[in-house]
Amino acid sequence: MTTYKLLLLPGDGIGPEVAREVEKVVAWFTRSGLAAFETETDLVGGAAIDAHGVPLTEAALDRAKAADAVLFGAVGGPKWATVPYTKRPEAGLLRLRKDLGLFANLRPAICYPALADASALKRELVEGLDIVIVRELTGGVYFGEPKEIVTLEDGTKRAVDTQVYTAGEIERIAAVAFDLARKRRNKVASAEKHNVMKTGVLWKEVVTRVHAERYRDVELEHVLADNCAMQLVRNPKQYDVLVTDNLFGDILSDVAAMLTGSLGMLPSASLGAVENGTRRALYEPVHGSAPDIAGQGLANPIAMIGSLAMALRYSFGLLDAADLLEGAITRTLAAGLRTRDIAGPGANAVGTAEMGDAIVRELQAKAG
Ligand code: NAD
Repeated sequence: MTTYKLLLLPGDGIGPEVAREVEKVVAWFTRSGLAAFETETDLVGGAAIDAHGVPLTEAALDRAKAADAVLFGAVGGPKWATVPYTKRPEAGLLRLRKDLGLFANLRPAICYPALADASALKRELVEGLDIVIVRELTGGVYFGEPKEIVTLEDGTKRAVDTQVYTAGEIERIAAVAFDLARKRRNKVASAEKHNVMKTGVLWKEVVTRVHAERYRDVELEHVLADNCAMQLVRNPKQYDVLVTDNLFGDILSDVAAMLTGSLGMLPSASLGAVENGTRRALYEPVHGSAPDIAGQGLANPIAMIGSLAMALRYSFGLLDAADLLEGAITRTLAAGLRTRDIAGPGANAVGTAEMGDAIVRELQAKAG
């Protein structure tokens, strides 16, 4: 059996608390003989600043490059609020994304039946929701040059951000979305604004071409990004895979996140290009370090454990193991277990460790 190398970067705040629960799940898979992992742990973010003066050491970066997948907790917190901008905790995550070439961000928005009432929308609109937003992560307006604030001759200021995409960047993210759709319900919606943006015109043209050349079997729909935001709150279940650029993806994935109830439930994957048959990848919960609840054992570990399920699926091709783990999460919720963030008013809530233990028990019950 192949042994997969996992690098665990717990980070700050609730990061180490939820990472501990994922370690229990990893240990269970190894014990059960269903998958074998070699796990290493390193520091990132504020924890790395405290120990080494930088948010990510070169040694940790090398370990990330050597790993089959990186599991990342969360970074940041008030303790490091005054650290210089280039050395802030988040710079560790940005460096990882950049140096591992992680251009495709996959954010599933799944609404578990047991949690449909925690959504901001009506139960019938979200119950059974299962969509994935594929966001381009390394290009677009967040990185385009020029990016500056200049003072004009009359003393007033002018700010510029530049939205820029090459055909190659669009082509590779489109391929990720089409490949993903083939493993799901075979539908891709591509969101841009070709009506007012040149990058939108090129985006639509390239996605159309990639579809015609390589993915005719997948259903493709083009949608304007603003209309897409409306559709996500009107009838989100119409989508399967939604592919879009960095800026629109940032916004649309947050809209989709709110459909599912809590930040504590949302995993994500960031994937690089396939090289020599392997693909660099980092998996992380969507939430941050939650300083308001850190150290109290209250955090919901499901986003982090769900991130491991994504690693099983997308990095290791262990589809049965991924299904088993996602099923264990669903059954744990269906049995009524809730951490505080997803418990209704007045309902009993369990802590981080109890939720992790319950998911491991469900794994054991199903497998053994
Ligand atoms: P946050 O996601 O940390 O918290 C927002 C709210 O959601 C808080 O009330 C928190 O208690 C709750 N929450 C988040 N995750 C939860 C979980 N697993 N279980 C239960 N409740 C949970 O966002 P924030 O408060 O805006 O940021 C806090 C810090 O995290 C900041 O320093 C920010 O820069 C950093 N941050 C890091 C990442 C990352 O590491 N990828 C992402 C976002 C924010």
